[in-house]
Amino acid sequence: TDGARVSALVIGSGYGGSVAALRLAQAGVDVQLVEMGMAWDTPGPDGKIFCTTPNPDQRSFWLRTRTKQPFSQFLGFPIDKDIPRYTGILDAEEFSGITVYQGRGVGGGSLVNGGMAVTPKRENFGAVLPTVDANEMYDVYYPRANAGLGVATIRPAWFDTTDWYQFARVGRKQAQRSGFPFVFVPDVYDWDYMEQEAAGTVTKSALAGEILFGNNYGKKSLQKTYLPKAAATGRVTISPLHRVTQVIPASGGGYTVTIEQLTTAGAVSTIKTVTADTVFFAAGSVGTSKLLVKLKATGALPNLNAEIGKGWGDNGNVMCGRANHIWDPTGASQSTIPCAGIDNWAAGGAFAEVAPLPTGIETWASFYLSITKNPNRAQFTWNPTTRAVELNWQTAWKQPSIDMAKTIFEKINSTEGTIYRTDLFGTYKIWGDHLTYHPLGGAVLGKATDNYGRLAGYQGLYAIDGSLIPGNTSVNPFVTITALAERNIEKIIAQDF
Ligand code: FAD
Repeated sequence: TDGARVSALVIGSGYGGSVAALRLAQAGVDVQLVEMGMAWDTPGPDGKIFCTTPNPDQRSFWLRTRTKQPFSQFLGFPIDKDIPRYTGILDAEEFSGITVYQGRGVGGGSLVNGGMAVTPKRENFGAVLPTVDANEMYDVYYPRANAGLGVATIRPAWFDTTDWYQFARVGRKQAQRSGFPFVFVPDVYDWDYMEQEAAGTVTKSALAGEILFGNNYGKKSLQKTYLPKAAATGRVTISPLHRVTQVIPASGGGYTVTIEQLTTAGAVSTIKTVTADTVFFAAGSVGTSKLLVKLKATGALPNLNAEIGKGWGDNGNVMCGRANHIWDPTGASQSTIPCAGIDNWAAGGAFAEVAPLPTGIETWASFYLSITKNPNRAQFTWNPTTRAVELNWQTAWKQPSIDMAKTIFEKINSTEGTIYRTDLFGTYKIWGDHLTYHPLGGAVLGKATDNYGRLAGYQGLYAIDGSLIPGNTSVNPFVTITALAERNIEKIIAQDF
């Protein structure tokens, strides 16, 4: 409510925000959780909360009048279509050289992501978070995050026989024939539920094309894990469709936070201010960076240090498809949940997730999202003329990612005598080098903050999300974001509250 005083205000309800809210509340702190997206707890006219990937409606995209699918076309046909402007679940946020996909709603990215829940290999951790004690992370916080998120792996015997993972078995066979390690990748999807979907005993979700715009069943998003636990404490109030725009030191201590209430058309209906003793920035790498860069540049928080906005990376994301021979069908029926990958990180700097292409027809296509060791880092800056935050990433900076991904796919193509698909990202275009699903950095741990996420220059301000991680996690990022948040909040509660 307008004019209220709160003890902890958390901006954003993704992984960092949900961990902060739960642990603060369990420690007896009252929490106001502010989320600019919708609650996603009420069915639409079709009886479902989320729309499917093949049939996007207004629920699909954040404030757009036309969809912006990661693939622009398929088999030569453009696939984007007009939709009503609405506070939908997936934001395709466009900067000059890259489109950054992000979840919008209570649960953040957990609402839209593939659920791949990967703990980095311990030998790679030093490069991921150089200032963090690895022993503590692997003994305490990674296990805590994996348990809290409900991470599990597909049953190998089912993997070996089900039609729904034919595409991944083709991926395995081809990886192994080229001598690459093939690994199962854990996920937060309920694998028992998926087996029941296949058996026809429950309503289908992953086996009905649901993924990018939310899963109605089966996926354990934060709505099913951290957030209900936080609500059960009775100390967490969640405000959906509320966007934080300003944080400024209050005269009597604490911070005055300005919050816009949004309509589902994206208009501002009310502006509120609350006073908060502490503020946790958990708006995601892009959201937190945009706020902090603006607040520093416009004089609201001038003492934030010069590291704000720096160290941003795309986790080396690059996509591609391969065309298989007619005797290697990948299946008309594909689960939307990836469960396996090809690991060439040590030798080639690439980890390729064998991704589904659930079109409902046989395409003979293999599709991959690669995470690569791309060294390029970008910076967010404030443009006083447009009054907007810009990111200086350039599309050409993906070239190292393409080169690293090629260490896997050139080999597989030569072993198999196959070629790349050129029809997924444009006409005669092999590489999906225009986007990322994994934004990381902008308020890097130990640089913009101390070693626990306390923002330099101000007491009681914290960053606790993907903005802390310097650009790359060597695997899919949300387990690391969750584990780091668990580590940091424990220290913050012990020392600052
Ligand atoms: P987020 O989860 O992004 O949460 C931030 C929240 O803050 C959002 O809900 C946002 O609406 C809100 N917010 C932003 N600004 C404001 C503001 N000013 N006021 C109020 N609220 C605000 N990762 C994996 O590990 N495995 C995967 O399989 C995987 N697949 C993905 C697939 C897709 C399509 C996408 C988009 C992402 C995927 N990711 C995956 C990435 C993962 O979802 C993110 O890394 C993760 O969600 C980031 O967590 P976070 O806590 O930093 O922020």
